[in-house]
Amino acid sequence: MLTMKFGGTSVGDVPRLQEVVAIVKKFLDKQPVVVASAMGGLTNVLLDTAQKAVERKSAEVKTAVAEIYERHALIANAMILNSSRREVLIKKQQQSIDELTNLYHGVSLLRELSPRSLDAIASFGEIMSCRQIAAIFEENNITSFFVDARTIIRTDDNFGEAAVDFSYSNSQIHETLTSLVHNGFVPIVTGFIASTEDGITTTIGRSGSDYTGSIVGSAVGSEEIWIWTDVDGVMTADPRFVKGAKVLPEISYREAAEMSYFGAKVIHPKTMVPAIVKNIPIRIKNTFNPEHPGTLISAKPDKQGSSAKTVTSIDNLAIIAIEGNGMIGVPGVSARIFSALARAQVNVMMISQASSEHNVCIIVPRKDCTAGVKALRDEFSIDIAKKIIDDVSVREPVSIVAVVGEGMIGSKGIAGRTFDAVAKADVNIIAIAQGSSELNISFVVEQSEAMKAVQSVHDAFHL
Ligand code: ADP
Ligand code: ASP
Ligand code: MG
Repeated sequence: MLTMKFGGTSVGDVPRLQEVVAIVKKFLDKQPVVVASAMGGLTNVLLDTAQKAVERKSAEVKTAVAEIYERHALIANAMILNSSRREVLIKKQQQSIDELTNLYHGVSLLRELSPRSLDAIASFGEIMSCRQIAAIFEENNITSFFVDARTIIRTDDNFGEAAVDFSYSNSQIHETLTSLVHNGFVPIVTGFIASTEDGITTTIGRSGSDYTGSIVGSAVGSEEIWIWTDVDGVMTADPRFVKGAKVLPEISYREAAEMSYFGAKVIHPKTMVPAIVKNIPIRIKNTFNPEHPGTLISAKPDKQGSSAKTVTSIDNLAIIAIEGNGMIGVPGVSARIFSALARAQVNVMMISQASSEHNVCIIVPRKDCTAGVKALRDEFSIDIAKKIIDDVSVREPVSIVAVVGEGMIGSKGIAGRTFDAVAKADVNIIAIAQGSSELNISFVVEQSEAMKAVQSVHDAFHL
């Protein structure tokens, strides 16, 4: 079997969907399982509209819902010529639109928008998109079957970023999808969405369809997992912002995980986890240029010399700094910091501590900053009162820039070249961290200067 995940841009309009049909037809002998996202940009529209509903901007909600319907109806009218098939599809889409309208109405009446409601609302993007793809496949003589992932992937109830229960899901996925494939169907599985034990809709994190692709690919024992997107593969930097970014033919799972964690949006960081378990290669391919070989992500550490391979950056972060002479040599300060942040459910992206132990910097997403500062001020209130700790201060917005590559391991001078390049770009480094794996050097700069730093480091390593 071959699992193919198609992202939002690959399923967002008629020419792309025609290309998806051609790609799947070409690989029918490999028994494809398809995972797909919502039409490009639709998840944002669904979530933004929820915000309007809670603010009771009913006219705007109505217009948005009509546009969501229209985007799908346009595809159905253009691509499904068989009138009864088209009518069945449009009727089902209309039912989803009615359900969505009711949800928005509920949100607006209650003036309350919980993560649980947001997940229920977001799920319509993948459901309508995959139902539509299944009908398009049928229209093109590909025997297909729409699979709502909520029936096969179980998660906990951490809405918005739910954790997958693999012991339950793996067997459900395997059973359902292999039987469909063996009966000659191409399953079209909704990315991004899942459900709790009680059947409540969850999502597994923004851009999570990549992760669904590899959960599914691993559970069915795919020979490879192909992620179809709108670029030729994983590149040395984000091609939208960095001049001269090039496609990498091969990278390791570890490199892919590091660079996606630090902002390479091309693949969701968790995607590598299920693939590693079964050692299944992941390939990133371009729906707009299907003949390009793309990037192969596998276990093989492809050292490619002794240098860095990619430069990435991640925005919208804040630095929380805890400072004070009283911290020097006192055991347990770090433990208290991390326990306090964990209790407040703050996601720590990076830490940096000077060897003097006078200052500890914690880098967190801006959205978690207020909760993080409060948790730390509460935890250290006595120490602050006694002047053991000066204060908990914040600097934002900042970005982490990360230089990643297996070839950096054991190579001398990488840090020197990196920081030299940053200095040449006249960018000030606020904090630095290097993991002991040496696979990654990351540092923090003002957000407004991040791209300058990325470009300069990219140029310095001739990426
Ligand atoms: P999809 O809808 O297919 O999931 P995404 O927009 O999530 O697509 O991811 C693809 C985009 O990721 C590309 O268009 C590109 O702009 C961006 N990107 C960021 N960093 C990188 C990188 N290092 N290599 C390739 N693409 C990158
Ligand atoms: N549609 C979802 C999102 O926009 C999942 C995905 O595209 O991967 O986050
Ligand atoms: Mg994506």
